[in-house]
Amino acid sequence: MQTPEQPVLRDIVLVGGGHSHVGVLKRFAMNPVPGVRLTLICRDTHTPYSGMLPGYIAGHYSYDDVHIDLSRLAEYAGARFYRAEVTGLDRSNKRVICKGRPNVPYDLLSINIGSSPRVAEVVGASEHAVPVKPITGFNNRWLALLSRIENHDGPLTIAVVGAGAGGVELTLAMQFRLRNELTRRGKDPDQIHFHLFDAADQILPTHNAKVRAVFRDKLVHRGVKLHLGSAVSKVEQGLLTTESGQTLQTDEVLWVTRAGGPAWLNDTGLALDDGLFIRARDTLQTENDDNIFVAGDIANVINSSPGKSRCVCRSSGPAAGGQPAAHGHWQARQAL
Ligand SMILES: Cc1cc2nc3c(=O)[nH]c(=O)nc-3n(C[C@H](O)[C@H](O)[C@H](O)COP(=O)(O)OP(=O)(O)OC[C@H]3O[C@@H](n4cnc5c(N)ncnc54)[C@H](O)[C@@H]3O)c2cc1C
Repeated sequence: MQTPEQPVLRDIVLVGGGHSHVGVLKRFAMNPVPGVRLTLICRDTHTPYSGMLPGYIAGHYSYDDVHIDLSRLAEYAGARFYRAEVTGLDRSNKRVICKGRPNVPYDLLSINIGSSPRVAEVVGASEHAVPVKPITGFNNRWLALLSRIENHDGPLTIAVVGAGAGGVELTLAMQFRLRNELTRRGKDPDQIHFHLFDAADQILPTHNAKVRAVFRDKLVHRGVKLHLGSAVSKVEQGLLTTESGQTLQTDEVLWVTRAGGPAWLNDTGLALDDGLFIRARDTLQTENDDNIFVAGDIANVINSSPGKSRCVCRSSGPAAGGQPAAHGHWQARQAL
């Protein structure tokens, strides 16, 4: 931990409160490095453990159960915590540019900002669909949906776009919870209708045939209407249209498709791939800047096989570009 008596010899700045930075903070808390000043900059004070997110949606866990309080963790690690959104980098002066606060200088920088479904690729999706990430935005909309059904009577139709692991899990978790909520209020749970769309002609395209069959049966058994080989091409208020011209009137559209990096990375001069993921070497240093490291979904480690977290989200969408990642918690839930 940095104490007031120690001079700051090196500024390490962590951008984003993703899973890797949580681990870094914990390590620093246990093994402080004299002379190092650690700073965490994150848009949110609480970061979710995404493996437990479907359980939270289903009602098995509370908000606090699945979230890590970054300000407390930073305090424990003796780090500074700035709640701010990073909007750029001034690499020649080694500064992080933030919205609404002064730039933050760094000697070494690490980026762990996750990725988000690419809503901009489909007409109207940015305005009328709810992307599963950032999680805060999704959670706010989910809470609004929960309170909406308190007073709602009559049918409610929810469309989920993207039948990868995230889309399938979210569909089942939301349906479980909403049906329970309606039953608890003495209402008819069959009023909730779920539709799952994907451009591919099968669900879970990167999982094996047995897993696909189990979940296909489960979805059908639970009354989820599958629209496979159905790329969504337009979203309007209350209406979704596919490339073949099929339309569906919806109350809510959730977007769990192929993910990408944020547009601001374009102006950093860092080497990016087509999906705006940051290209990194085996050391996790970015391809063209030794002082900047990258981890988690936003990293594209160029020499590694494609088995990493971000592929889960990337592979879940219509383009199905990614490959499966062998993650413990995804795998464990497949047995459910
Ligand atoms: C429903 C669902 C279930 C999932 N289940 C699993 C699973 O079981 N197993 C698995 O491996 N993966 C799972 N995933 C995928 C998982 O979410 C990601 O792989 C994982 O969260 C990536 O972690 P990360 O550390 O890269 O970033 P994230 O966990 O996404 O964290 C990024 C952080 O950076 C912050 N941030 C972003 N942009 C900025 C900015 N500009 N300025 C400041 N801060 C910023 C965010 O607020 C956030 O705190 C699931 C995803 C979903 C949607």
